[in-house]
Amino acid sequence: MSPDPQVVCYDCMIKASAEEKGISIAAAEKQRNSALRTTNLFIDHKMKEYLSFAPKSDFEDLDEVNHILKYVTNVWNTFDIKEKDRMARKKEEELIVIFENVKMNWSYLIEAPPQKRNNPCRCGSGKKYKVCCLIREENEKAELEKWKRFDSWVIRKGMALLEESEELNLVELFQFYCGKKRAAEAKRYGITEKDVEEFNEWLMNDYFAPDEQTPYVLGRLLAKNNLSGDERKLVEGRIAAPKSVYLVTFIKKGTGALLRNFFDHEEVFVYDQMMSESTQPGYAIFVRIFTAGKFHLLSGGHISYPPAYLNEKLKEILKAYRKSGRTDGVNSFLRHNGYIFGRLL
Ligand SMILES: [Zn+2]
Repeated sequence: MSPDPQVVCYDCMIKASAEEKGISIAAAEKQRNSALRTTNLFIDHKMKEYLSFAPKSDFEDLDEVNHILKYVTNVWNTFDIKEKDRMARKKEEELIVIFENVKMNWSYLIEAPPQKRNNPCRCGSGKKYKVCCLIREENEKAELEKWKRFDSWVIRKGMALLEESEELNLVELFQFYCGKKRAAEAKRYGITEKDVEEFNEWLMNDYFAPDEQTPYVLGRLLAKNNLSGDERKLVEGRIAAPKSVYLVTFIKKGTGALLRNFFDHEEVFVYDQMMSESTQPGYAIFVRIFTAGKFHLLSGGHISYPPAYLNEKLKEILKAYRKSGRTDGVNSFLRHNGYIFGRLL
């Protein structure tokens, strides 16, 4: 609980909003109403979309409503205030078109009870579950483990390459990565394990040598040509994946979570058991997601933040992006500058 609880009445809230935006109270009230209209329309549209996906004519019970509503609200929260303002000025027909393009991962939300081995398989093949989808599920699990093993192997090769490198001055790079202030603090108080982990993650995935367009370590791993086909795919997956800011929209405990990117609104299911146990839906994380075959995996450690904490940081990132003059999207911008914001988060 806040040590200084504030009770704000509706009138005060509208007045504060008007002052902040430099508009009249009537205009602020109108803006608030159209924002509410947009939010309600989004929720309504997506709840109906879920019912037609399920498919069913109505929700089973209040728990199901809450479950779906929580997901829909989390997805809505990945749109920043400016985007919502722009939407609030649009007509209902235009909004529906926009909302239809917000892709939802409904299938992850439908929790089917476990199947019995000798029962007819739910997929409708007419075969028993144990000789049908159970085999597919077990193959998938084995494939996921295979990709995780490849990734550990690739990381070991990358770390070995870093240790052998005579070109790199790791002390200077650490100072560059941390920034002067934190490097001085590290010198005084010692380097924490988390610092080292973050630094390695950056060195491995996001450090660019001058005038190079591919991250140093990943580029050299590819050039060495001693990778298997699948390991090569993994390295390419890492090259394509900058560290970015995601919102946890849904968690499947013990398996992974749906994460939606704040900047391009793409959403993927990430297989990471540890993260699924240690974060909450509605929280934000600054993390790298890379593809491994048909799976999405998380790179390095992660910390999750309440979204309110993150709003200011998102603003800073967007401001820096606009200032950079780049037009290739915030995620590409973060590929080269993400470490700065990694320090801020
Ligand atoms: Zn089946």
